[in-house]
Amino acid sequence: MSAGALLTRCRERRGTASQTEYTQVGFPGIPLSHTNERIRPVSTNETTYDYVIVGGGTAGSVIANRLTEDPGTTVCVIEGGPDDRDLEHVLRLRDWLSVLDSELDYGYTTTEQPHGNSHILHSRARVLGGCSSHNTLISFRPFAQDLDDWVAAGAEGWDNATVQSYADRIKCNIVPIAEKDRNTMVKDWVSSASQAADVPVVEDFNALTSHGGGFSDGAGFLSIAYDPYTGYRSSASVAYLHPVMDVRENLTVLLETWVGRVLFDGDRATGVSATTKDGERITVNARQEVIVAAGAVDSPRLLMLSGVGNAEELGALGIESRHHLPGVGENLQDHPESIIMWETTKRVPENTVMHSDAALFVRRGTAATRIPAPT
Ligand SMILES: Cc1cc2nc3c(=O)[nH]c(=O)nc-3n(C[C@H](O)[C@H](O)[C@H](O)COP(=O)(O)OP(=O)(O)OC[C@H]3O[C@@H](n4cnc5c(N)ncnc54)[C@H](O)[C@@H]3O)c2cc1C
Repeated sequence: MSAGALLTRCRERRGTASQTEYTQVGFPGIPLSHTNERIRPVSTNETTYDYVIVGGGTAGSVIANRLTEDPGTTVCVIEGGPDDRDLEHVLRLRDWLSVLDSELDYGYTTTEQPHGNSHILHSRARVLGGCSSHNTLISFRPFAQDLDDWVAAGAEGWDNATVQSYADRIKCNIVPIAEKDRNTMVKDWVSSASQAADVPVVEDFNALTSHGGGFSDGAGFLSIAYDPYTGYRSSASVAYLHPVMDVRENLTVLLETWVGRVLFDGDRATGVSATTKDGERITVNARQEVIVAAGAVDSPRLLMLSGVGNAEELGALGIESRHHLPGVGENLQDHPESIIMWETTKRVPENTVMHSDAALFVRRGTAATRIPAPT
């Protein structure tokens, strides 16, 4: 999808650039009651924090938690969607399908494509926790080989040892699906898949990655970020925001508030302009940094609306270019999913985590590209 197409499509869904700032919303009323001396209210419509995070989704929740571990650092998270703490259907992982294409989904679609696959729903969650509040929370550690390839391509600091050490610190409760949630039909499927494809049954995919760098083939129950006792998600918001939201005075979360523009002073991002649920325009300033964590679609869109992107494309859309940066809003790659369905002659068993509990992985490469099976 080109940058222009991305922006145009989003505009169709949300109105024009300037309308965007008025369409989203919900002011939580949290910020001023959570102020301390480091939060400087300039007027009722303007506040200042050390860090402003756009998006209380997967990345935004983690960053907000880590930054506010230091009580001397103030952080404001601005989230377009509502709180997830009272939304049972969001918290209960097995209800995830009910959130897709609902009022908690921005409902973006692909543009017209020359060879088919036009107007396919590209779900993006509009709720605290972002897409970790409506996804299936299947959780894999990255493979050593992939990280090595990244480093070779120039991604300094993304080496296996460093990244695995961060994976060790993840607060989400990532566990292989619990025995009580393993139904007989899926168990049978795992053993049949293992025999048919001649691959091992894997009990814990992530253990193979932690201790062996990855795996080539296998069939087994997946590892999920959830609480096996309750069936609730262990999403980014559950693990990183809920425990600290009403506890840390240096953390402010503005809900149902839509950021329409990043503000600049010369080349430096100094804050954001946002609109609350009630339609009030506010300015939130950042002493240190503005962190754009609005997701794969809305992060580039926000940058482009703020004048950061391909100058030619922005000009064609009537947006003044502030920083010519081709690549913003381009080259999005997603993994396609297709579904094969069978009709069953008996009822499907009730126990499940989220209806996609197991998987078969096969790698069809040369012997040289295969990771040896664990002994
Ligand atoms: C249906 C589905 C299933 C998936 N399943 C899995 C899975 O099983 N395992 C896995 O690892 N990954 C899965 N993914 C992918 C994973 O969920 C995403 O990669 C990840 O959540 C992206 O995190 P993020 O922080 O970039 O964005 P998000 O989590 O989407 O967060 C962005 C946040 O920013 C907010 N926002 C956006 N624009 C603005 C604005 N202008 N102002 C204010 N707020 C704004 C949004 O409301 C949202 O809360 C799935 C994704 C989908 C859609």
